[in-house]
Amino acid sequence: MRIKSLHPDRVRAWLARAEAWCRARGSNLTPLRREVLELVIARGRPVRAYELLDALRARGRAGSPPTVYRALEFLEAEGLVHRLSARKAWLACPEPGHDHAGVVLSCRHCGRALEVDDASLVEPLLARLDAYGFEPEAGLLEVPGTCDWCRQERDHG
Ligand SMILES: [Zn+2]
Ligand SMILES: [Zn+2]
Repeated sequence: MRIKSLHPDRVRAWLARAEAWCRARGSNLTPLRREVLELVIARGRPVRAYELLDALRARGRAGSPPTVYRALEFLEAEGLVHRLSARKAWLACPEPGHDHAGVVLSCRHCGRALEVDDASLVEPLLARLDAYGFEPEAGLLEVPGTCDWCRQERDHG
């Protein structure tokens, strides 16, 4: 089962919000950074850097790994993408500026990932980790599993 990429109208609207966000913050969304963001948004799931590089090359852009990583670092610093460190992948954030304490529900079957901005889901866990002497990285916790859509396909399809 393959995930469909996001509809171009939704990608355009998402990009327009990102541009307004960067303008308001006085940060420079260069054409390359914008293009990388567009590719991450359009996938609708976490994307790895090499996939972005391939996509840029397919568009005739001469990207190199460092330029892609730098663009992703910028986008992450702006809150426009989240890095899922365990997967070494990036996910576009639908709501830049939120406090980014939540979970990403990540479907093993279709690859879709849903960001749930709910600190109450993770705070008790993070607070308890101290008891194990473990210092977690800030960011989103990824929970692998089966999404609602795939469960319905499985149970009723
Ligand atoms: Zn987010
Ligand atoms: Zn799924």
